[in-house]
Order: sequence, then structure tokens, then C-alpha cells
Amino acid sequence: MLKDLLQSKSKYQTKIDELKEVYLSDDRPWVIGYSGGKDSTVVVQLVFEMLQQLELEQRKKQVYIISSDTMVETPLIISSINHTLYSIQTKGIELKLPIETHKVKPEVQNTFWSLLIGKGYPSPRQKFRWCTDRMKIDPANRFILDKVSKFGEVIMVLGVREEESATRAQSIKQHTIEGSKLMKHSSLKNAFVYAPIREFALDDVWNYLLVNQAKTPWGTDNYELYALYQNSSAGECPLIVDKEIKETAGSCGNSRFGCWVCTVVKEDKALVGFIDSGESWMTPLLEFRNWLASIRDDRNLREKSRMNGSIYYVGEGDDRRLGLGPYTLEARQLILKKLLETEKQVENPYEPDYKLIQIDELKQIRKLWIESGDWEDSLPQIYFDVYGEMLDWDQEERAPFDSSQITDLELICQENDVDFQLIKKLINIEKNYVGYKIRRGLIEEFQKVLNQDIVHHGKVEGYKE
Ligand code: SF4
Repeated sequence: MLKDLLQSKSKYQTKIDELKEVYLSDDRPWVIGYSGGKDSTVVVQLVFEMLQQLELEQRKKQVYIISSDTMVETPLIISSINHTLYSIQTKGIELKLPIETHKVKPEVQNTFWSLLIGKGYPSPRQKFRWCTDRMKIDPANRFILDKVSKFGEVIMVLGVREEESATRAQSIKQHTIEGSKLMKHSSLKNAFVYAPIREFALDDVWNYLLVNQAKTPWGTDNYELYALYQNSSAGECPLIVDKEIKETAGSCGNSRFGCWVCTVVKEDKALVGFIDSGESWMTPLLEFRNWLASIRDDRNLREKSRMNGSIYYVGEGDDRRLGLGPYTLEARQLILKKLLETEKQVENPYEPDYKLIQIDELKQIRKLWIESGDWEDSLPQIYFDVYGEMLDWDQEERAPFDSSQITDLELICQENDVDFQLIKKLINIEKNYVGYKIRRGLIEEFQKVLNQDIVHHGKVEGYKE
């Protein structure tokens, strides 16, 4: 037993020595992707130990530890990440280690709710997984590119392991640079990938975390991480910073520790696991997530054309029918209302001010709705109906007409047998050009709308809803 322990200790020290060698071999800063899961915890902990073992004058280059916050993370996981990042940063400063921790988030126009409720994207599926790029990869890449522009080149240090899957192993091998510990980043020029635990087996990971180094150098306890895994029935969800790795991972939702609202997986094991282990306050989240998954293909809630107005068909012969477009405005209103009601219901004992959707996302959604024809400006009212209070809404975002003008216009459209939605679209385009002296592009935009398949859908051969 003692012999085994000593052997594994020296194995990890050999890894730390390798990390030292790579760290000291050049000036390129490191960016570590930390997901809060076991593999990236091992990497951060090994790097932390390595830096501690260096002399002060050797700790020259910066190590950035970044975590992604999609803004729809499973609540207990994101709390644990926040706590760990804070502890690492505090201890790093105390020990004079060149460590900086950061959280990377999607921009407001690319959050889950802005796209789903604001634009009507149907909830993600394996075949239409619009979320990972926008919410995880792009924000992390922005951070990396910022460092590339500052330092010329950077090295991404990732907790990927060959054992995870054959395709993962293949991808790692393909990108390896001959005679180097580094791999080429699949899409970012001047970024390289270093996977220090690529050859680790699962046992090596848990051995290191629970036997060798159960207490982290920044003061937290790896048994808490282990408990989180057990309670959430979780697998691993890496912070995905490379599109190729994303593909080999299948989905960050396939493994757990993903977003609480993820509909890429059949069942949200993390939420179910947490609820089963006593965190019953998360039940409304699970109910909402299941409801969202259940309405995805409801034809009544979806437009009959794509966002650009084109129509398409699915199925063959008698089964041939019109494909589905984004959620209708009514569906988006319904989803928002239900989300706010869920938010009101959730009582997070660890974070009393916990919100499911942020105010800047609500403002973004309101703007998108008005642009897409919500002239009644329904969002402030929906918020009021749920919370009984008015937020400080931007007056400039108001719709172009008041309610009596809208009714008049609707009547005129009816009398003249003109589609009211079409007129709305045209007026919205016109509105976007108000104030410009040269209105180049206006006519083209009008034409685009007038030529859309959906405007002529009744005349499309074989049209069937
Ligand atoms: S966990 Fe699910 S919803 Fe979140 S980014 Fe991954 S696939 Fe998308």
C-alpha cells in the first residue's frame, strides 16, 4: 500500500517536472481551461504545485485560468467554480504566483435566452446545437485572441485525456507537433494546445485528487468535488475551447456539468441527481427544462418559414410537410412568462438573489421583439404580470405606434386584404433607415421581404402545413 502510494507520488512529481520544463522553455503565456470538473481540476492543481516549486525569479510568465459561464449553468456547479476561482486567486496572490483567474461569458446578443426567447431559436438539439459555439467557444476564443494580440502566441493548457474516447485520442494525435509536447490549435492561429494529462487513466485522476492531493493548495477539499459528482450523477463537461474537441466530445451536454436548461441530452442527470440528493429547491428548474423540451416540436408554436422567410419541406410522399421555423412571437412570450414564473418560484438557499435571466437579456429580448413586430411592446407587461413591478425600461426602444394607431392600421390591412405582418416588416425596415440622408439598401431590403417564399406560400406547389 505504502509502496503504491510512493510510486504514484513519484508519477505525479514526474508530471510536475514535465510541466516545469514546458513552462520554462519559452515566454508564451498559458491559458488553462477550467470547467470545475475532475480533469481540469487535476491540471490546475498540478500547475499550481509546479509554480510553487519554482524559484521566484523563474515565475515569469503569466498563467490565466479561465472558466466559462454560459449564464445558464447548473447553479451548484457555477457556485463551486466561483468559489474555487476566488480561492485560487487569493492563494496565488499570497504565494506570489503569476496566476490570474477569469470568467468568460457570452455577449448579451448571444446568450441562451436572447437567442431562444429573443429570436425564437428552437431549443438546441444534437443536430442543431447552436449554443456551444456562441456561449462557450466564442467567449473563450475572444479571451485567447486578446492574449495572442498582446503576447504574439499563447499556449492553451487543457485537461483532455486520450482514454475518454477513441476519436478524442485520434484528434489529439493528429494535432501533435513532432518532437514537441504541444499540439496545434485546430482553428486559432498562434495558439497551441498542451494536454499534460493526455495519457492519464481515470484512476490516475481520482488517485491524484483523493489520495495524493485531497486538500488543494488553495485550501478547498477535493472530496467536495467528488461529492458534487456523486450527487449530480455527473460525468465530465470540459470547458470546450477548440471546435474540433467539441465535435469529438459529442456535446458538452452528453456528459454532465452542463447548462441546467440543456435539451441536447434526453434527461438532465445533474439536476435529477442534485434533487435526489436533497436539493429539492431545484425542482422548478427541472420542470421548466422538461417543459421546454416537450414544446420544441409543437407546430402551433413555430413559424412556417425560416428566419429569412424561406420555406422548406421535410418527409416524403404523403408525409411531406412544411418544415418548422423559429418560435412564433406568441410562443416566445409564453416561454418568457413561464421562465419568470419559475424564477420567482426558485428559492436558492445559497444565493438569495439568484436569477434565471438577467436584466440586460430582458432588454435585449424586448428590443428584438419590437424589431420583429411586437408593436404592443409586450415584454414590460409580462414582467409586470409576474413580478408586479415595472423595471426601468428604455423609452427609446418603444414601438413606432400606439395601440389605437396599430388597430387602425390592422383594420386598413383587413379592408384591403393585405397581410398585416408583412406591412409591419416593411415599416420596421423603413424605421431602421429614419434619419439617414442616403438610404442605400432600403429598396433591396423591401424587395427581399416581398420576395420571401412565405409571402407567396399559398401559391407554392404542394404547400401543406
Ligand atoms: S450544456 Fe447543452 S445547452 Fe449548454 S452549451 Fe452544452 S449543449 Fe448547449
